[in-house]
Amino acid sequence: MKETANILGVAVHPYTMDEAVAKLTKDTLAARRNFVVTANAEIIMMAQQDAAYKRLLLDEADLVLPDGAGTVWAGNYLGYSIPERVAGYDLYLRLLKEAADEKIPVYFFGGKPGIAEEAAEEGRRRWPGLSVAGCRNGYFSPEEEPGIVEDINRSGAAMLFAALGAPKQEKWLCRYAQSLAPYLLMGIGGSFDVLAGKVQRAPKWMQDARLEWFYRLVKQPSRFGRMLALPKFVMAVRREKSEKK
Ligand code: UDP
Repeated sequence: MKETANILGVAVHPYTMDEAVAKLTKDTLAARRNFVVTANAEIIMMAQQDAAYKRLLLDEADLVLPDGAGTVWAGNYLGYSIPERVAGYDLYLRLLKEAADEKIPVYFFGGKPGIAEEAAEEGRRRWPGLSVAGCRNGYFSPEEEPGIVEDINRSGAAMLFAALGAPKQEKWLCRYAQSLAPYLLMGIGGSFDVLAGKVQRAPKWMQDARLEWFYRLVKQPSRFGRMLALPKFVMAVRREKSEKK
């Protein structure tokens, strides 16, 4: 394990995208469990308000990856070495490619009714041979949860992608980790919406200019409140550094 970056009390593992994909594929094929969180600034800020979520990230997650320009900046600013951003959506696509190549069945859990199925169809179109062993939308009552776990386990999937939004997806995966059969458990936020073509991602040049947040704000102005986490995150990281000196 590489030296972790302590960002506002959250331990972030500075893997590159290639390293993360290689490790997670290899571990899945070897039947080793990984509960993965791609931690963007919003998630790290959620953990500041929610002690149980912070504990989950510290004690339960096997791999916490640096998602978003904010997390990469913070790690490097605090004196750690974080080589690059490992965005949740990009990692999800890379893992689908590996799943298709290695014949690893996957399960899509989350999103509005029908969206996981549409994402699965697009996934099979992009990576022929991809086996999506099951789909389930992300709207359910507590009574339905054991049935969802059973459906996931019965499907034979070895990778489970949960798109319920943070922190719900991590809390759900953690609550059922002991009874879930898949080896890879990963929360992926709105990724099915993107793969299904319902939500667009920022163009590459904007991502490279670290402006993805701005693109999202223009496209989905309702996210404004949520996005205030970003300047708060920058201020908190600056404060942490000046207190360390
Ligand atoms: N969602 C869900 N169940 C819920 C709440 C949300 O399946 O109870 C889904 C929602 O349909 C969306 C995703 O979770 O697809 C959350 O997307 P968001 O854009 O908030 O995630 P982000 O990518 O920003 O983490």
